[in-house]
Amino acid sequence: MNIPNLPKIELHLHLDCSLSYEVVKKLRPGTTREEYERDFIAPENCASLEEYLKCAQEPISIMQTKEQLEAVTLDLFEQLKTDNVIYAEIRFAPLQHLNEGLSAEEVVKIVDKATSKGIEKTGVEARIILCTLRHFSEEESMETVKLVEHFKGTNVVGFDIAADETLPIDNHIKAFEYAREHGIHCTAHGGEARGPESVREIMGNFHPSRIGHGVRSIEDLKLLDDLKEKNIHLEVCPSSNVQTGIYDSVAQHRINEIYENGNSLSVNTDGRAISNVSLNEEYQKLNRHFDWQKEHFRQVNKFAIEAAFCDEKTKDLLRKKLTDH
Ligand SMILES: [Zn+2]
Repeated sequence: MNIPNLPKIELHLHLDCSLSYEVVKKLRPGTTREEYERDFIAPENCASLEEYLKCAQEPISIMQTKEQLEAVTLDLFEQLKTDNVIYAEIRFAPLQHLNEGLSAEEVVKIVDKATSKGIEKTGVEARIILCTLRHFSEEESMETVKLVEHFKGTNVVGFDIAADETLPIDNHIKAFEYAREHGIHCTAHGGEARGPESVREIMGNFHPSRIGHGVRSIEDLKLLDDLKEKNIHLEVCPSSNVQTGIYDSVAQHRINEIYENGNSLSVNTDGRAISNVSLNEEYQKLNRHFDWQKEHFRQVNKFAIEAAFCDEKTKDLLRKKLTDH
């Protein structure tokens, strides 16, 4: 099996956690490799999700102008192309990029345009998910979901909640209600820093069609079956889960058990820089530790297409690319 050659779908990917050394050097000339590794890559085994999230702060500081946002978006497309990703959903929180005077609407417009440019340049199909963050206020969450609605018809196709899962959900219930009323596709981070109860809380209050991570659902088989029955897709990011301390190594990750249970899941990097991993490498790890072969990867990519937030026409094209290979 030639892993680099396999067509791949990636649904869980943070723009701000994926800056290559090349683009950082361009945006902040003089940055050494050591500085890049210190500031943009999280330790292999962080003490907590909180420590991991700290490493997500540095890149935000060089994603504040039109030129910077364009550069990091196009940089990510080059990385996607190298992994032979045929479709990606790229996510970020627009409200984190207002320090140099851009409005949230301008930020989304810039990334949307750069995404169209990246698609054209690389042939990698892609869409955008806008994130609210757990520590955001109700107003900030509402502002974010309304941006998704405002940008309907562009590359923007969904809404997510990210950041520290241990914080309460209360500020965000209204935004997810708004999403439901307006037919906006939703995913939500959970079942990572906290266990099955967090996934249940998200399902009961946010009603997303996908869950970012959700891997700790395996600790409650009833919940895992419930997810399967409701066809809720899990966006699994193995290396990231090791970094945030859920598992000691990828070999101990429970992705294979979730797969064997028949749940819809995909394989993702979460952040290529912060986790210092490519999607090719994630696939290689699964091949090495769980003997995943071409049919496993084809199956998870099929799941990913069904769970994607793009339209049916795009899905048909992706299905064809996957089966033609
Ligand atoms: Zn994530």
